[in-house]
Amino acid sequence: MSDQLYVTRSTMPTFEEYSDQIRKIWETCWLTNMGVQHNELEKLLKEYLKVRNISLMCNGHLALELGLQAMRLRGEVITTPFTFASTTHAIVRNGLKPVFCDIEEENFTMDADKIESLITDETAAILPVHVYGNVCDVEKISRLAKKYHLKVIYDAAHAFGVTYKGRGIASYGDASMVSFHATKVFHTIEGGAVCFSDDEYGLDLFRLKNFGIRGPEEVDFVGSNAKMNEFEAAMGICNLRHIGEAIEMRKQIVGIYRNNLAGTEGIYLQKEQQHVGSNYAYFPIVIDEKQYGLSRNELFDLLKENGIHARKYFYPLTNRFHCYQSMYEENPTPSALKIANRILTLPLYPELEKENVERICDIIKGAQR
Ligand SMILES: *Cc1c(COP(=O)(O)O)cnc(C)c1O
Repeated sequence: MSDQLYVTRSTMPTFEEYSDQIRKIWETCWLTNMGVQHNELEKLLKEYLKVRNISLMCNGHLALELGLQAMRLRGEVITTPFTFASTTHAIVRNGLKPVFCDIEEENFTMDADKIESLITDETAAILPVHVYGNVCDVEKISRLAKKYHLKVIYDAAHAFGVTYKGRGIASYGDASMVSFHATKVFHTIEGGAVCFSDDEYGLDLFRLKNFGIRGPEEVDFVGSNAKMNEFEAAMGICNLRHIGEAIEMRKQIVGIYRNNLAGTEGIYLQKEQQHVGSNYAYFPIVIDEKQYGLSRNELFDLLKENGIHARKYFYPLTNRFHCYQSMYEENPTPSALKIANRILTLPLYPELEKENVERICDIIKGAQR
């Protein structure tokens, strides 16, 4: 049905704009392996994201997995369970052990005050997530990393284009992964990248995404294949031309949500962060059942009956996944558990009509008892 509203909808350039962009591919018949479009997008993104280096990949998950692998770590990685499956899988698929840190209840990012007590002789790195594009306590995390000689790699999948104190968010830490999946603020259909400053690290990363190959007769690593192809890069070049406008439209929609939902008893909105240039990637609300009258699951069902498909991002916590059951000691993350049981992410994309945002808010406010 066309009147169904989903949590997101991919932004598209016009058919003509994309056709013009891919026409050039027929001139060379060079489809992948760091072609013209790929190199052009890499250059454009380096400027837009304000980072020293960037390596494009076929998706965000492999970018994170290879970003970790290039750090050559052993032991434990402190991370958050309030995230997408990819974050925890990237750690485990590298033969590393995730150690789960609790989150802050205001912005859902890793609680930096709780990291130090989790550091052991085995700790090799910290992998925080800028969840919903909210900025982690990058300063405290950086101080801890220095003190204990730990690597920091951020999952910045949600944080495309976000700035903190005027600096590109992906320039923090030893590395940051950004995702260009179709559902994200900026996309290349499927895609992602690792941003970093160390050139040596970049060389390893470049080899890892191309089978670990150094030269025609030399293979240095048990690498993977994670190259971005020319059609994906071309989509990225087109989308990047309109990113400012797309983020501005998201901002307007977030404003309508905030105006309409402010003061609704039992509905909590995330705090706007100081010094942060937001990308307005997601609009999560936290439902206090006692004050609101309905539970998160009841509100989810009610919206669904009205054709509005909100999402329980992020529920369940990754440390509650079936595949991780009884693999790691129970490490209580009570705030993460509380938020996971109460959070609901509402539809948000540039073309979402004002009337629909107001309709969603009316349903939410009308159900309050
Ligand atoms: C989307 C996402 C990823 C993975 O990115 P893909 O490009 O889909 O592989 C990783 N972490 C988080 C938090 C995400 O939302």
